[in-house]
Amino acid sequence: MTAQPEALTAGELSAEVLYDKCMFLARNLWWSWHPEVINLFRDLDPIRWRQLDHNPIALLKEFTPERLSSRAAEMVLFSRINGSVRRLKEYLNHKPNWGATNTGVLGAKPVAYFSAEFGMHESVPIYSGGLGVLSGDHVKSASGLGVPFVAIGLFYGQGYFRQHLDDDGFQREEYQHTKVEDTPLEPARGADGKPVTIQIDTRGGQLFAKVWVVHVGRVKLYLLDSNVEGNKPEDRELTSRLYGGDERTRIRQELLLGVGGVKALKALGVTPGVYHLNEGHSAFGAMEVIRERVHDDGLTFDDALREVAQQTVFTTHTPVPAGHDRFDCGLVEEHLGPLRDQLGISYEQLMGLGRVEPQNEHESFCMTVVGLKLSRSANAVSSLHGQVSCRMWAHLWPRRVEEEIPIGHITNGVHIPSWLAWQMQLLYDRHFPAKWTSSRGEPGVWQNIHHVDPGELWETHNALKNLLLAFVRRRLSRQCRRRGESEDAVEAARNVLDPNALTIGFARRFATYKRASLLLFDVDRLLETLNDRERPVQFIFAGKAHPKDEPGKQFIQRIANLRHDHRFENRIVFVEDYDINVCRHLVQGVDVWLNNPRRPLEASGTSGQKAVLNGGLNLSVLDGWWAEAYDGSNGFAIGNGKQHVSDEITDRRDAESLYSVLEERVIPTFYDRDVDGLPRKWIKMMMNSIGGLAWRFSAHRMVMDYTRASYVPAAGGLSCDMPSR
Ligand SMILES: *Cc1c(COP(=O)(O)O)cnc(C)c1O
Repeated sequence: MTAQPEALTAGELSAEVLYDKCMFLARNLWWSWHPEVINLFRDLDPIRWRQLDHNPIALLKEFTPERLSSRAAEMVLFSRINGSVRRLKEYLNHKPNWGATNTGVLGAKPVAYFSAEFGMHESVPIYSGGLGVLSGDHVKSASGLGVPFVAIGLFYGQGYFRQHLDDDGFQREEYQHTKVEDTPLEPARGADGKPVTIQIDTRGGQLFAKVWVVHVGRVKLYLLDSNVEGNKPEDRELTSRLYGGDERTRIRQELLLGVGGVKALKALGVTPGVYHLNEGHSAFGAMEVIRERVHDDGLTFDDALREVAQQTVFTTHTPVPAGHDRFDCGLVEEHLGPLRDQLGISYEQLMGLGRVEPQNEHESFCMTVVGLKLSRSANAVSSLHGQVSCRMWAHLWPRRVEEEIPIGHITNGVHIPSWLAWQMQLLYDRHFPAKWTSSRGEPGVWQNIHHVDPGELWETHNALKNLLLAFVRRRLSRQCRRRGESEDAVEAARNVLDPNALTIGFARRFATYKRASLLLFDVDRLLETLNDRERPVQFIFAGKAHPKDEPGKQFIQRIANLRHDHRFENRIVFVEDYDINVCRHLVQGVDVWLNNPRRPLEASGTSGQKAVLNGGLNLSVLDGWWAEAYDGSNGFAIGNGKQHVSDEITDRRDAESLYSVLEERVIPTFYDRDVDGLPRKWIKMMMNSIGGLAWRFSAHRMVMDYTRASYVPAAGGLSCDMPSR
């Protein structure tokens, strides 16, 4: 009788320890690129896991330690939990060789990476699209390689909007408040152990922000949040939405990101060796660093500017003119005025920093120009984008010829463990050299794909494709139910799409230059192609339009409403609320990834790189990364890499090329089967794509390039040319 309470106490204790171990895993986003930890969380409660957007903290909070402990016993999870905890601790305590040997000059002074959004996982919704996911992947690879690195962004309490379509197929936006206590965010503390807050003076009063920290592997990501006491009510809302509000909201957000970010680092005792401004949004940060030098070290403005520029690198992300932030000079003076006073510079000098022609009063203040002027080197994000950017900004260097414009390029890449399906990873594990993941940095490793049995690769791909179809059906039936449609319609949605049909994915922001509706250019011709009984083709679309982008919303509507057009027989479906989760399912399961932007407006694009890892073939306009990746044997090209001055003519030509490539190459190759039912030529192309492209377009390669060409030289190390391919 007396033994029982004691046993109970011991049990409770270990339940608490177990619970803490799970929380320890959940509080570092490291878990999100480790399949064994993801599966661990899923096994705790598969249904809630899905309902909670794969958020392990929210999931764990639904358990008491006792219930967690008994569930873990039932599912035999103890050793898996212990093993994962051990691996995370090892990861945190061990500095990888690459960073140790290649970043010595950085010493204790990390790279400070500023970005307006970070897309790391769907459960931390502070991103909208490509730029955010790229930043998230950059951070994860910096962690993986062991580059001394901190990241700075904003915490958007309502993130970007959630999308659903109304009965007319029109996009509706819904904003949800993120519960901070359900995220891995913690208050960032200074040396005194107190939570850090920062303040910024403007002509119209002070602006305050608190600072959160999120652990992404070995890297700390700091997020500023204006929702604090002391701020005026409208300022408390300032960081609530990503890319919401007007010009005034935007400049205040960017003031927080740049100036606030630099102040936060100072308050946290972090002294960066290099400042990386990822896109113009954070360019005010460089001005705050100049202010620090003038104030703390007594430098003149000119000397401080020169020194700070030596430490600063800038990345530009868009060849679309409207994509470059511009502000009215009055707004700039209102927000940067006090900083200008401390720098001792005139109004004209300040405005000149944001103008191509400093004296031109009619020019607005452009954040890209600030970034270019205050950095030692700048880069575009693909080779073609580099050429376009040099031309676009040549007038900033009027005495130089185009070849001498100091804008290089580092092509974007994706974080392999985040985007590679674990089923595919298991296949690679079986055929690649042991421990190949630790030598992911060696391009040669991927050539082993050619030794994989074609049938095995095809089978793995088809298993992933079936998972995608199950996901899409689940989503479509949920969409029908939400719209209050009949049980028959819900049931029909559960059965759409054919697992044997060629399946093509198209998902991205519905910005007009991405031409989501190019496929519908000639509906009759498309119908003929789709409805061949012997060789069916089906499309899965997804993507959000910016809330103010009416034409983008009309594209969505047009595509979504094809479900009412019986001629299409549900061969074109639209999945609502595109996010990292939807993207992951799509890029892991499609046969073909379609991308047809209006060249040369796609700076890089990264979603097609995610498809490569999982055996998807790209069918894309020769723009962005694909212009340098395509070699004729590793996917399909739309157009011939030329564009016409008239958009109308370009669109017609590209549409015709798209149809003929589908009809003459993609469909015949996919349906050309041997006696075993295998499409041998197709599988060969999958192997060429994986073997030749996976490493070149990975975020590890990208961060290595940044380190060698940008970070090390900016920290005073040996200069190395911007890589060109
Ligand atoms: C990868 C990704 C993107 C970027 O895709 P692009 O090819 O650049 O259009 C956008 N959104 C999400 C959710 C992603 O995961």
